[in-house]
Amino acid sequence: MDTCLICNPNAEKPKSEFKEFDCEKCGKYCCNKIVWLKGIEEIYKEIPIHLLSGYIREQSERTGIPFELTDKKDDIEIITKQLPRDDDVLEKARKLLLALERRTKYPGEMIGLNGEQDYPLAYCQNVEEFRYYLKYLIDTGLINHPSIMRGAWECMITVDGWRAIESYKVPNAESEKVFVAMWFDKETDNAYNKGILLALEDDCGYKSIRIDRK
Ligand SMILES: [Zn+2]
Repeated sequence: MDTCLICNPNAEKPKSEFKEFDCEKCGKYCCNKIVWLKGIEEIYKEIPIHLLSGYIREQSERTGIPFELTDKKDDIEIITKQLPRDDDVLEKARKLLLALERRTKYPGEMIGLNGEQDYPLAYCQNVEEFRYYLKYLIDTGLINHPSIMRGAWECMITVDGWRAIESYKVPNAESEKVFVAMWFDKETDNAYNKGILLALEDDCGYKSIRIDRK
């Protein structure tokens, strides 16, 4: 199994900067040359490791491509702004419900979770915290859980859970269109693709039409 530079502090740095990582906890990612040379812990020292792990896991699941860790100030700022606060219980529970939705192919499907691997889905520090958010979703009726406390971590999104997911996606405004004023250039592509687009379409339910991509 590959060692992970994020969740394994003793991992040996790969010989090539072009290596793509696929960690069962942190998801898929790669590093640009400077991050590879200086180390993730140096470039991303402001971000707690477990939140970075949760962020990369979420991004690589949502986009299907490895997340590129760069040393650019703007990129790091985008990440920092999108992270949930560590004590924001509601936001972490919301992240977990959306992660379950990503795994659900049809309503009623039982989703298997592995606490040891999946705790970054709710941006948790450990399995114990992860179990807390699962319990929260059960107690609020958003998921069903046959045997969560016995180690077989299976659950299913309930009707109320689907209702909650829909409510996350419905924008408050009547229109689905949103106007984004920004400079469209290769330089800002990362900010648009990894930050703005996901926030607008997935989180807020808007439809994005970019004039330069029409
Ligand atoms: Zn990892």
